[in-house]
Amino acid sequence: MPSLLPIPILTYHQIDEAPQKGTPMRSLYVSANSFKRQMAILKRLGYLGLSMSQLMPYIRGEKTGRVVGITFDDGFLNNLQTAAPILNSVGFTSTCYAVSALAGTTNTWDKELGVPSAELMSVQHLREWIAAGQEIGSHTLTHRDLTQLDSAAALVEIAKSKTDLEQSLGVPISQFCYPYGSYDPVHIQMVREAGYAGATTTVRGRVQPNQLTQAGDAAHTGNESSLLSLFELPRVPVVRSTSWLQFLLKIGTAYEDNRSKVAKF
Ligand SMILES: [Zn+2]
Repeated sequence: MPSLLPIPILTYHQIDEAPQKGTPMRSLYVSANSFKRQMAILKRLGYLGLSMSQLMPYIRGEKTGRVVGITFDDGFLNNLQTAAPILNSVGFTSTCYAVSALAGTTNTWDKELGVPSAELMSVQHLREWIAAGQEIGSHTLTHRDLTQLDSAAALVEIAKSKTDLEQSLGVPISQFCYPYGSYDPVHIQMVREAGYAGATTTVRGRVQPNQLTQAGDAAHTGNESSLLSLFELPRVPVVRSTSWLQFLLKIGTAYEDNRSKVAKF
């Protein structure tokens, strides 16, 4: 079997101009120009940018190629208004993880951190996002930290967000993202049992498809811990200050691999 290239899954939040200096979490804004340049770099290097569903066969080692996963956390309206046209112009797809019960409202969970209020996509916007060829995943119902909830409440956040989105959008929802990158083993189990095909974290690094292929094999021997890796996929954060050189290093080298976990996203 040929060795498989590590796969970066990029994490974005807002595609917009950053608020003034000193604003908390300012790093999570990537300007339209930077995003456009980053997509152009990927295209020029021969990478295909894919949604999580379209990326899964590569992650499982069933397909090979120069691919990058593209994800957006939280479901900001600027993803639809600014990122979707840029993605379409280069023929890339992506996954936006929406907070299902907060569709059409704002990022209220960020308020106490001092992050400025920003519009989230409404159900109609989420439909437009899908109609534009992009994917919606679940980022729970209300963006609570799962580890702070009892198991019944955590299960509702994980499972009901899936069925609610499926009902309102009329498409299967198969991808999940843990709010704040925060979860316990019990939540991984809940995500699997709710019927998701994969889940992303804020652990930094690229996905090593070989390891996941072996994990697939291990499934037959009953090795539960390695089976779970599809539900703990690491990602590569792209932030306001990411230069084009850093971007290249993050994609094509071990720069991100084994970096320490980013706590708050
Ligand atoms: Zn989030």
